[in-house]
Amino acid sequence: MQRGPFHFPMRDAPAQVINLKDYTPPAFLIESVALDVDIQPAQAIVHATLKIARNPARGGAIEPLVLDGEDLELLSASIDGRKLAPGEYRADEGHLTIAKVPDSFTLETVARFDPWKNTKLEGLYATKSGLVTQCEAEGFRRITYFIDRPDVMATYSVTLCADKAQFPRLLANGNLLASGEGEPASWFAAGSEGRADGRRHWARWQDPFPKPSYLFAMVAANLELLEDHFTTRSGKKALLQLYVEPGKLDQAGFAMQALKKCMRWDEDVFGLELDLERFMIVAVSDFNAGAMENKGLNIFNTKYILARADSATDYDYFGVDKVVAHEYFHNWTGNRVTCRDWFQLSLKEGLTVYRDQEYSGDEYSRPVVRIQEVRDLRNRQFPEDAGPMAHAVRPESYVEINNFYTSTVYDKGAEVVRMYATLLGKEGFRRGMDLYFKRHDGQAVTCDDFRAAMADANGVDLEQFGRWYSQAGTPVVDVSAKYDGTNETYTLTVTQSCAPTPGQAAKKPFVIPLAVGLVDLDGHDLPINIDSASLFDGVRSNGGRTAVLAVTQERQDFVFHQVPEQPVPSLLRGFSAPVQAKFDYTDSELTHLMAYDSDAFNRWEAGQALAIRILLGGVKAIRAGTQMEVPLAFAEAMGRVISDGSRDPAFAAECLQMPSEGYLAECMDVADPEAIHIARMRLVRELATRYRTRFEGAFRHFAVPGPYSPDAHAAGRRALRNAALSYVSAMDDATSRALAFLEYRRAENMTDAMAALTCLANSAGAERERALSMFYEKWKDEALVVDKWFRVQATSWLPGTLDRAKALTKHAAFDLKNPNRARSLLHSFATDNPLHFHAGDGSGYRWIAEQVIELDRLNPQVASRLARAFDRWKKYDEGRMAHARKALESIRDTQGLSGNVAEVVGRALGTDPNSSVKAAE
Ligand SMILES: [Zn+2]
Repeated sequence: MQRGPFHFPMRDAPAQVINLKDYTPPAFLIESVALDVDIQPAQAIVHATLKIARNPARGGAIEPLVLDGEDLELLSASIDGRKLAPGEYRADEGHLTIAKVPDSFTLETVARFDPWKNTKLEGLYATKSGLVTQCEAEGFRRITYFIDRPDVMATYSVTLCADKAQFPRLLANGNLLASGEGEPASWFAAGSEGRADGRRHWARWQDPFPKPSYLFAMVAANLELLEDHFTTRSGKKALLQLYVEPGKLDQAGFAMQALKKCMRWDEDVFGLELDLERFMIVAVSDFNAGAMENKGLNIFNTKYILARADSATDYDYFGVDKVVAHEYFHNWTGNRVTCRDWFQLSLKEGLTVYRDQEYSGDEYSRPVVRIQEVRDLRNRQFPEDAGPMAHAVRPESYVEINNFYTSTVYDKGAEVVRMYATLLGKEGFRRGMDLYFKRHDGQAVTCDDFRAAMADANGVDLEQFGRWYSQAGTPVVDVSAKYDGTNETYTLTVTQSCAPTPGQAAKKPFVIPLAVGLVDLDGHDLPINIDSASLFDGVRSNGGRTAVLAVTQERQDFVFHQVPEQPVPSLLRGFSAPVQAKFDYTDSELTHLMAYDSDAFNRWEAGQALAIRILLGGVKAIRAGTQMEVPLAFAEAMGRVISDGSRDPAFAAECLQMPSEGYLAECMDVADPEAIHIARMRLVRELATRYRTRFEGAFRHFAVPGPYSPDAHAAGRRALRNAALSYVSAMDDATSRALAFLEYRRAENMTDAMAALTCLANSAGAERERALSMFYEKWKDEALVVDKWFRVQATSWLPGTLDRAKALTKHAAFDLKNPNRARSLLHSFATDNPLHFHAGDGSGYRWIAEQVIELDRLNPQVASRLARAFDRWKKYDEGRMAHARKALESIRDTQGLSGNVAEVVGRALGTDPNSSVKAAE
C-alpha cells in the first residue's frame, strides 16, 4: 500500500496492545473462499462459503472457531449445510465464535451491511462513481466473517450482482469466469422474488493465486476504461485495464505508459514477470491512502493516476510514475511472498519502496531522486524516531495497526534494504532476492526470513545487521580525523550512538556501511589505501575512490595509508546509511566539498550543512537582536550554483532549496518557529538581493519551449526556473509581484502556474486575491486541482493564514469526508506550516485539535494522521508546550474517541500502554 500522503459504531472498549512476542499460528486455516455479493439499494448482502480445517501447526488442540467481523449484521450461519441454532454461536462486537466445529468443514455465513454509511473507507464503501474496497490492513472483516490475518491464505472466487445502469462495471481479483444479465442461476435456489430482474447483471471472478484477505478487492461502479496490452519477455500476452471516473480518460494515458515501463523494468532488473492474464487498475476520488496492491486489481487514489499537462505538475507526474510502479512491484514483493503478521509490514513496504526508488533512480536523475528521498526521510522519519511514536522498522507492539503505516516502516525500511545492496553489491543483492523468491514463493514470512535469504545467498553473517529491525532511533555517527604528515596516514575515528526511545533505553551497535572519499586541495578524490579488514566484503568502490567502511562497533579507528596531504573527508556518500553523520568541518571545507566533491549527493549535502549553520546562527542573532551573518564564501558558492545551472538544472534547483523550517526545528534543542522563519527569509532575501539579475536571467533562460513533456530534462529546467522565481518573489516588491502574476497568466502547464501561484499566495500584493480567484474559477471542476488551491492557502506564511484556513472549512468545495480534501487544508496547515501551526498563542494547536475530534467521528485513520502533527510538541518553549498539552488533553478527553487517535494522543502525552513495553533485544 502507498500511504497518502482513515465507522460508525465507536470503539469504547479499552484499547488492546498487540505484541510481536505473542505471535502464534492461526487455529484454523481457510483453503477457499466463495463470495456471493448482492448489491442492493442501501445495503450489501454477502453470502460466504469457506472451506476450513484445523491448523496442524497447533498440534491437534480442540479450539473454538473465532472469526473477525466488524459492523456486520449476521443473518445466518451454517456448517456443512446445517443451519446453526442461536445457542451454537455468538456474534458480538468484533467476532463470530462457534464453540464446536469438526476438524474440517464448510462454513456458510450470510451477513448484511450498508456500504453507503461507511465513512471510515475501510472494507466496502461508496465513492463518487460506485462501490470499492480497501482491505489492508483489517478491512476484509467489514465485508464478511473471516480469520482476518495475513498468514491465512486462501483462493477466492467472487460473484457480484448489482443494478446494471448504476454499476456497469463489476470487478474482482483474478480472471473473469462468467458474466450475464439478471442474476446468476445459482442464486435462484432461494426462490425469492425478483431474481430475474432484467435491470441487474452479474459477473464471476476467480483468483488462481492463494492470498491473504488484505489483498482482496472488488468494485461495482460506473467507470470508463483505457485498455492496452503487454507481452512479457517469456512471450505471454497480458491485458492491461485502467478504469477511471467518467470524463477522466484524457488524464489516464501517462499512468498506462508508466505501468508498461515499470513492468519491463522489473523483468530487466529483477527477472520478475507478471503472473496474470489481466492486470487492472481502478482510480477513485475517495481513498484513505495513496494506492493499494490488491492482486490483479490495484485500487488507486486518483491523485496517483490522473495527469494532464495543464492540470498536473511535474511532481504529480513523478508521483504517478512512482506509485504505479510501487503497486505493480508489490505483485512479487508483498503478494507472491507476503507478511506473516503486521509487525512484518516493512518486509513488503521497505522492500517495495526500495524497488520504486531504484526504478525512479533509473528513470530520472539519480542524484536528484536520492536528494529528495533523503530530504523526505529527514523531514518525516528522523522526527518520528526522535518523538513519542518512535518504533523499530519491525515494531514490537501496537494498538491500532493503521497507525504503523509510518515513515519508519516505509522510508527507513527502504534504507535498510538499500544497506543490504550496499553491503552485498548489486549482484549479491540480486542473488539474495532470487533465493528469497525460491524459498518463499506462496508463503507468509518475516523480516528475518528475508535477512536469512540475503545472508545465505552470499555466505555472509548478517546477525548484527538484524538490529536495524529491532532497535528504534536514528544512530549518530561522530567522526574525527587526524593527519600524520610524516607517515602519510590519515585516521578517521568513528563512534556511534543512538538516543533512548520509548521502551528502549540502551542500544547495541548497528552495522553501518559508511561510504567515504578523501578530497584533496585541488578537489580530486585521492586513491584509497586501507586495510581490507576495514571494509565490507564484496564492496566495489567508485573506481577505488570511495570506500565503504565497516562500522560495527561503538568506536573504531580507520587508517588510510599513502595520503600525501591533509584531505577533506567526504562522509556518508550517497547517504549510505540512515544516520546522522557529524564532523567538525570548517566553513571553507564545506564550500570546498560543495564545489568539488565527486559525489553529487555530498555536494548538495555540504551546501545544506553550511546553510543550516548560517540559519541556526541567524536564529541566535535574531533572538539576541543582532545582525544575522551570511559568509561571503557561501553567498558566492550559491551564486555559482545559479551561473552553472545549465550543467544540471534539476540538481541546481535542489541546491537552491534551503533546509525546511521543520528540519531546522529538529536541529535545535528548543525550537523557535518564528525566529526560524525570519532567519530563513532573511537568508533567501540576502541571496535574492545579491543575485537578482542572475535569478531573473535564469528564470528567462530555463524556460522550456514547445509542448509540455514531464521528462526529467524538461522538468529539471522548470524546477530551476521556478526556484529562481521564488527567490525573486521573496523580495515581494511591485516588480516581483508583476513578474509572478504575468507568469501565472501566461503559464501553459500546471508546474509553472502553481509555482507562480505559490509565490503570490505568500505575497502581500493585490495580485494574490486576483490570482487565487482566477485559479479557482478555472479549476473548480477538477478535484485534484482544487486540492492544490486549498493547500497553497493553508501553507502561506502571511499573517492571517489561520483565519483564512478556518474560513476555508466553510467553503462550498470543502468536504471533511473526502480524505484528499481534508488533507489539502488540515494536514497541509498542521504539518507544512510550522510558523502558524506552532503560533505562540496556541491558536494553531486549538484549531487542529478541534479538527482532529471532528474528523475522528467520520474517519479515524485520517484523523489520527492529523493528530501526529503534535508529535514533537515537547520540542518547543514552555508557553507553546502548555498550549499543546491542553489541545492534546482536549482530544484525549473526547467521548467515543477512536482507538487510532487515542493511541497517537496517548503516546504524545506519555500515557499510552505501549510506552511501558520493553524491547525484545
Ligand atoms: Zn506499498
